[in-house]
Amino acid sequence: MQTIINFPLKSLNSFGFDVKAKEFIAVESSANLRSAIDYAQAHSLPWFVIGGGSNLVIHNDLPGLTIHVQIMGKKLVSKTATHAFVDVGAGENWHAFVQWSLDNQLPGLENLALIPGTCGAAPIQNIGAYGCEIGQWIDSVEVLDTYESDEDRMWQTLTRSDCQFQYRHSVFKKDPGRYIVTQVRLAIPLVWRPNLQYAELAKHVANISPLLPKDVFAAVCHIRQAKLPDPKVLGNAGSFFHNPIVDESTYLSLKNQFPDLVAYPSDTLNGTPQFKLAAGWLIDACGFKGFRQGNVGVYHQQALVLVNYGHGNGKELLDLARTIQEKIHAVYGVDLTQEPINLP
Ligand SMILES: Cc1cc2nc3c(=O)[nH]c(=O)nc-3n(C[C@H](O)[C@H](O)[C@H](O)COP(=O)(O)OP(=O)(O)OC[C@H]3O[C@@H](n4cnc5c(N)ncnc54)[C@H](O)[C@@H]3O)c2cc1C
Repeated sequence: MQTIINFPLKSLNSFGFDVKAKEFIAVESSANLRSAIDYAQAHSLPWFVIGGGSNLVIHNDLPGLTIHVQIMGKKLVSKTATHAFVDVGAGENWHAFVQWSLDNQLPGLENLALIPGTCGAAPIQNIGAYGCEIGQWIDSVEVLDTYESDEDRMWQTLTRSDCQFQYRHSVFKKDPGRYIVTQVRLAIPLVWRPNLQYAELAKHVANISPLLPKDVFAAVCHIRQAKLPDPKVLGNAGSFFHNPIVDESTYLSLKNQFPDLVAYPSDTLNGTPQFKLAAGWLIDACGFKGFRQGNVGVYHQQALVLVNYGHGNGKELLDLARTIQEKIHAVYGVDLTQEPINLP
């Protein structure tokens, strides 16, 4: 097994931080993945798994072994009366996969178009946008369980319920580093129903009749391109904070104090209503939109996105994030939690 020493990760993290991996290997098969883990264990090295690097804050060079999952392949495996089952390799690009599914008359995923990164990382935080989450289509996930040493128990198939999907959360985040995803199986309903619960998306396609999946796909791409900075131009990881979820009395008290507060009903907790506060609104209302601190800042068109102006580093970014979190806590009594994962 040939690893590369001091591998530059600047193009493998969407913030564009100038960091390196002490040792690096790209794995293109499950067998290569297994060899990489064996190698790390044999040399007592910590390991890090990365896909497209679009949800990471790499704030120092990575010690140990960095494993870049590049297991490819996508195919329709079977159809039932109601669903098409599709397998996709963990290394496939998510957006290209959404496009492929449309090209192959398997619509449904179009609300998740243009989310950067790989298919293997999609279940990790249960990627979501415009009223949809990947968890709703996942049938099962093939993983290498790094806690197991027995060859038979090491390779597992996790069902959708094993994955414990929640808002930007799953079993993979509960037990970070335990599972390495090699392949994802999606169950796509054969009857297509557009999901237009997001007012902005509904407005965009309102005059199109008959509405086709490709129209929703184009609308999602258009809205996203207008709102979010392209990481190739301005380093970022999309939304930097989760939308905080609060109980009804907290929501009502905040709404009373801040009548313009933007919030949406969320899933109930033990039968009691919960509300998802728009973190972007909270940050914007504190005057942070367009705020710059050294080489990093808050995107001028979307307060939920933190950006690297070119020469920033992870430490500067995390300092800015802390400044925002402290202010939000002081003003609203609400805690903002970070979405991208800190490495090392
Ligand atoms: C401009 C922009 C817009 C975005 N918009 C959205 C959005 O709308 N919705 C949304 O949910 N997210 C969004 N994101 C975040 C990001 O695109 C997703 O989280 C994506 O799934 C990350 O994929 P990745 O391959 O880049 O993962 P990475 O950033 O490489 O890794 C993220 C995490 O997944 C783990 N991981 C990666 N691959 C594997 C694997 N094969 N097995 C096990 N663990 C693995 C890593 O160890 C790490 O913990 C956005 C990011 C950007 C830059």
